[in-house]
Amino acid sequence: MRALPRDVTISIGVMWTMWNKLLIKTIPSKFVHEIRKFSVSKMAKSRFEYVKSFEQSDTLLKNCWIVVRVDGKGFHKFCDVHGFDKPNDRRGLNLMSLAAVNVMLEFNEIVVGYGQSDEYSFVFKRDSTVYERRRDKLVSYVASLFTAAYIFNWQYIFKDSLPLKYPPAFDARAVLYPTDENLRDYLSWRQADVHINNLYNTTFWNLVASGLTNAEAETRLRKTLSSDKNEILFSEFNINYNNEPAMYRKGTVLLRKKVTVADNKSLSLIVPIFDDMIGDKFWQTHPELLDGKAKSNDPFDIGADIEHVLVQYQIEKHNKRKEGMKRKHETS
Ligand code: ATP
Ligand code: ATP
Ligand code: MG
Ligand code: MG
Repeated sequence: MRALPRDVTISIGVMWTMWNKLLIKTIPSKFVHEIRKFSVSKMAKSRFEYVKSFEQSDTLLKNCWIVVRVDGKGFHKFCDVHGFDKPNDRRGLNLMSLAAVNVMLEFNEIVVGYGQSDEYSFVFKRDSTVYERRRDKLVSYVASLFTAAYIFNWQYIFKDSLPLKYPPAFDARAVLYPTDENLRDYLSWRQADVHINNLYNTTFWNLVASGLTNAEAETRLRKTLSSDKNEILFSEFNINYNNEPAMYRKGTVLLRKKVTVADNKSLSLIVPIFDDMIGDKFWQTHPELLDGKAKSNDPFDIGADIEHVLVQYQIEKHNKRKEGMKRKHETS
């Protein structure tokens, strides 16, 4: 393509400056950026512009549940380097959930989050139009926001007791589920996974704590069934597996609920729940998950979990925002 003559280039430049001034004077500032972006894309075409057409877009099929799952990269090593408790570091799990709350606060089309170990699944409602259902945009944004929030909140959870030694990373994928049954089976699959892994890990680390080497513990557990591991825990370590913390056995489900907080006020919060999702009871108790219209305005009884760090974090955030608004109001 030939370059434009100099005087034409100057005229375009002058018109461009005038257009920008006009924009700033007459149009609310929140729209100026979008209009300018549009103008730039339409007017300032360079001879390199054609490369844009090489981009491929992948749109997530309509009318399907979208599940985006993030998983920590090399977390086996990450947990070792940071001296996480074995087999479950409560603070590490809570930090994962706090990062997930940050993602759910950003994307209000997520109906449920589910986390265990170094992974979190986010279920976007069937009719979600988030980023026009563009796969790349959604997957990359969820992964980067989750990672940023994990790092941002590290100190909130670990205080000064444990410095972050290197930047963790999370991959992400999007999977589509066309039926409610498929979605339920997906969540059941992840929850069955935590059960299998946690029962194994709890038995393994108790054997190691009792003096076996890692290799000996592994040999001892080879080919054992769930019932065998339950028996080892009970007869050798006096542990009833069912009494282990529900968060370790079931993972963390994050739901949006109205919760009554101090002074009888109710707040919309993202609350952690440690229930079984495989049976029907969970879906009967929370019908709004599969049917958005079934949303109830009744407050949800969160019980002792009102003290949970995730809930307290959101209440603190709410109070800070309210305080800020009050101050702004007073000074204006
Ligand atoms: P989208 O989410 O669609 O990407 P966006 O608001 O991020 O929207 P971009 O087209 O990515 O829009 O443009 C980035 C904007 O940020 C531009 O307006 C650019 O001028 C501004 N920007 C980026 N980096 C800087 C910087 N270092 N200093 C000042 N402005 C910047
Ligand atoms: P990849 O990069 O392929 O995902 P990985 O090392 O992250 O590899 P995973 O299969 O994702 O492997 O397993 C995660 C590991 O992190 C497991 O070993 C699990 O026990 C450990 N882990 C994750 N969260 C915690 C936690 N809160 N406390 C203790 N260990 C944890
Ligand atoms: Mg991993
Ligand atoms: Mg994993």
